[in-house]
Amino acid sequence: MQTLKIAIQKSGRLNEKSVALLKNCGLSFENYKSSLISPVSNFPLEILFLRDDDIPEYVQDGIADLGIVGENVINETEVDVAYLQRLGFGKCSLKIAIPNDSNIQSLGDLDGKAIATSYPVILKKFLKENKLKADIRTISGSVEISPGLGMSDAICDLVSTGGTLKSNGLRAFADVLSSEAVLIGRKGDENNPVIEELIQRVQSVLRARDTKYVVLNIERKNLETAVSLLPGIKSPTVVPLAEEGWVAVHTVIPEQDFWEKISGLKAAGAEGIVVMPIEKIIL
Ligand code: ATP
Ligand code: ZN
Repeated sequence: MQTLKIAIQKSGRLNEKSVALLKNCGLSFENYKSSLISPVSNFPLEILFLRDDDIPEYVQDGIADLGIVGENVINETEVDVAYLQRLGFGKCSLKIAIPNDSNIQSLGDLDGKAIATSYPVILKKFLKENKLKADIRTISGSVEISPGLGMSDAICDLVSTGGTLKSNGLRAFADVLSSEAVLIGRKGDENNPVIEELIQRVQSVLRARDTKYVVLNIERKNLETAVSLLPGIKSPTVVPLAEEGWVAVHTVIPEQDFWEKISGLKAAGAEGIVVMPIEKIIL
């Protein structure tokens, strides 16, 4: 089988989670900070460690077959690649922010103003869509200090918690783009068996990450109420306990309505509820 290459960030916000995702997919490789390339010993894949900015072009140009990178970088580099899977980490938004004491009140007030950003392509598109003419000042880092230095009236930068904005006397003003890490490939390559296998493994890890395995004990007379609350993969597993009239219920619960389900189950008489993480769910 042909060996493919996947490009991931060498160091930075996406590195650790990208490595963890690939390891959870069962890929065995060394994660030396010094190496540019690492072979996978049990799957036809090599890992390339790169700066995130280079990943979309490497994939588009065929130097790498796959990549894990933020949508913000993909949009900024304007490459033509296939989105294979959203990965649910590296979530952030590109926002326009203004100084707390700014007199900018509506989007229209940005007309004629100077906006500092490391994302000139995305910002230009946003301004055009909103029929605004602002002066884009492209800078490569520390964008948040530019209004304080008198270099710009606003900034357009990535925000996750907003802490950096706050400590620089800025506040979010408009959303330009929301972003998360995605698995990308070349268009037309989707049916490659190695890529198909990797996507399936990634999906099984993502499914498991959003789900918990739950075991609980309940009196048989309350079983119906409990089961009506539970999805399971097909349906919950029910096994009798040694104590007469009691059963154990095994099931999986999606993370997002976990606490709501647990309180419903407790109200229905569930006891000894044990919750476990799930490694993989293969459908
Ligand atoms: P590199 O050295 O690879 O060029 P970088 O400094 O450009 O790294 P990081 O700061 O490590 O990039 O961020 C990588 C990606 O993480 C971003 O492109 C974005 O998709 C995502 N991200 C998530 N939250 C944030 C945030 N608060 N600020 C910046 N990026 C974030
Ligand atoms: Zn970068």
